[in-house]
Amino acid sequence: MSNKVILIVLDGLSYQVAHDCMGYLQGLIEADMATLYQVECALPSMSRPLYECILTGVVPVKSGIVNNQVVRPSYNESIFSLATKAGKRTAAAAYHWFSELYNRAPYVASRDRFTNDESLAIQHGCFYQADHYPDDHLFVDAEYLRVQFDPDFLLIHPMNIDDAGHKFGFDSSQYRNSARYADIILSSWLPQWIEQGYQILVTSDHGMNNDRSHGGVLEIERRVPLFVIGEHFSHSPDCTISQTELCGTVCSLLGVPAADKAVNTALLRA
Ligand SMILES: [Zn+2]
Repeated sequence: MSNKVILIVLDGLSYQVAHDCMGYLQGLIEADMATLYQVECALPSMSRPLYECILTGVVPVKSGIVNNQVVRPSYNESIFSLATKAGKRTAAAAYHWFSELYNRAPYVASRDRFTNDESLAIQHGCFYQADHYPDDHLFVDAEYLRVQFDPDFLLIHPMNIDDAGHKFGFDSSQYRNSARYADIILSSWLPQWIEQGYQILVTSDHGMNNDRSHGGVLEIERRVPLFVIGEHFSHSPDCTISQTELCGTVCSLLGVPAADKAVNTALLRA
């Protein structure tokens, strides 16, 4: 396979809220254009450790990225590094921790916020520092990268759902409404990306709890959605998917060699 892939990580989105509040994505499912799976995130259920888990397939206790304060480049091959080695173009509109994990650490906003350097793993980047950086602006950043640089792999990582959860908690109208707003933003962009044949995954790093945090094993913290859209997914209802399989599965979609990465073959069309 050699497809273009867009991976959207909606930070801090619990499965239940994704399921209940995202009517556009559910509409795609009703039209047989998407499938929703449940994924248990790795532990601890925290952002930076799970960015690493999603992008490299390595769980936090093995990657060493065990909390948000571990500020250093990843020691593992990632979708970004494997894709660039295979001659693919990479891009990300994402929180600055992704720049630290896969490009350079520590992040220097004046140098790194807008990145264009084909020697880096994330060749083209629009990175942001503030958790309240508006999700709708972030998607415009992503579309700019997509149109300007035509990446084979594009990561889009907005933060407002997580930000609302930290301010108001899991069981709050603000948290649910931030997910509804993300769904509206997705409805503005996905139709043209689907039309152009991208394989699209929409997932989250972790969920949220009622103490306005996350990190443990509560179902609301740990169970996250995985929506898949595109003709190269099996759309089988019977897939059991581990968060550690996302890296290898995306590499498989891209046609990028990733020998030691786990692939969920049931998720892909044979
Ligand atoms: Zn958070």
